[in-house]
Amino acid sequence: MMLSKELTHPGAGSNEAAPQKGGTRIAASPSGRRIAVIGAGAFGGWIALYLQRRGAKVILLDGGGPANSRSSSFGETRIIRGGYGPKGIYTKFAARALQLWKENEARWKQKLYRRTGVLWLAAPDDRFLKAAMPLLGEARLPFEAMPLEDAIKRYPQINFEGIKWALLEKDAGYLEARRSCNVVVDAFVAEGGEYRELAVQPGTITGFQMQPVSLSDGTKLAAEQYVFACGPWLGKIFSGVLGHLIRPTRQEIFFFQASDKQFSETSLPTWIDYSKHRYYGIPGNEWRGFKLACDLRGPEFDPTSGDRLPSAEGLRAAREYLAFRFPRLKGAAPLEAQVCQYEQSPDEDFIIDRHPAAANAWFAGGGSGHGFKHGPAIGEMVSELVLSGKEPEPHFVLARFANSKATKTLTGSQTLGSSVARS
Ligand SMILES: Cc1cc2nc3c(=O)[nH]c(=O)nc-3n(C[C@H](O)[C@H](O)[C@H](O)COP(=O)(O)OP(=O)(O)OC[C@H]3O[C@@H](n4cnc5c(N)ncnc54)[C@H](O)[C@@H]3O)c2cc1C
Repeated sequence: MMLSKELTHPGAGSNEAAPQKGGTRIAASPSGRRIAVIGAGAFGGWIALYLQRRGAKVILLDGGGPANSRSSSFGETRIIRGGYGPKGIYTKFAARALQLWKENEARWKQKLYRRTGVLWLAAPDDRFLKAAMPLLGEARLPFEAMPLEDAIKRYPQINFEGIKWALLEKDAGYLEARRSCNVVVDAFVAEGGEYRELAVQPGTITGFQMQPVSLSDGTKLAAEQYVFACGPWLGKIFSGVLGHLIRPTRQEIFFFQASDKQFSETSLPTWIDYSKHRYYGIPGNEWRGFKLACDLRGPEFDPTSGDRLPSAEGLRAAREYLAFRFPRLKGAAPLEAQVCQYEQSPDEDFIIDRHPAAANAWFAGGGSGHGFKHGPAIGEMVSELVLSGKEPEPHFVLARFANSKATKTLTGSQTLGSSVARS
């Protein structure tokens, strides 16, 4: 997929109408009508594909290309797992997504999902994992709860200090991130969709309708409905409605040299340290090294202009953690580092809803560090909403923030206190 052109993300909300309560609903767009999806990341790509499959005429636009280096879907790999503590809605969603990943893999004859298993390391406060287990069972996602002694025997390469027990999610693993986004857009085009690499500025809003959008080639585009899946840029583009709700945070990822087979994905599952450390990692993947990242929220970050060089402090902390949890990797050489951002919502739940002042414009975002895996399930759900006129899942609507202090500012290195594990 060609990456080109500077993203000129539209200025903050100059053309936004003030949100209005109880905006009139337009009739459902029957299939065959023209729909524009803006953003070809993990959300927009799958939404465009499923809209297309339901018979709509879809144009997908992205100013920087699918999984470009500034997007949240950028990077080699993303974890897919069903454990979400008590938030069963995501466990079910992950189970559905996994099924769709597999179906699409088979259809495209492409390998995008790796079933390595995900090993959760449980801290003494293990309420999150205890809450997750019955929900994993209900969603028919197989798992094994392992007493500490068994985990130590099975994974001698891990130092289990501070860990109470372990849970292995057997069908979990990782997805090839950047490659998947490109494969999805290629499939969308092969199945009849139109993809254009252009930045989009939303249209003015009059009479509860978004008017044609402006494209970075100077033209305008009219569609019956618009789906904005602009990841970390959503808050900038719709500052009046989403500016205080979607806040990108700076996240660093490191890859270390680990030639010992014990640290390859055939010997070690993808893992999540759910103790105070909050690191997670993916061994192997295409000889890139041992991936390690901290899931604590970093400082606020500008996805357009933020500096993407890793910090010395981040590297020092990653090395220290690596030496502690995987002692045989002490002193391992860093091979690569990346800086990405989470497009954080206040409660870490997705934001999937109509624009409160424009019945023909939708938002799909707020992946909050865990959205990638759900891409196909989001595509399936959003395509149905857009084409059927059904109301979105209450969990994801903007109204949930009506009475909350959603404007809380993120400061460096904090979790937001919810029980959703990231990644
Ligand atoms: C370091 C890191 C690790 C993560 N780990 C996991 C994990 O293990 N598992 C998991 O499930 N999730 C994970 N996530 C979260 C997940 O990757 C994101 O939630 C998801 O990729 C977000 O996808 P998106 O489509 O919303 O955003 P993006 O991928 O950012 O896509 C938005 C697209 O919109 C385009 N765009 C923006 N504005 C405009 C405009 N005006 N005109 C045209 N185009 C525009 C951009 O160019 C971009 O391509 C992680 C995220 C990060 C950063």
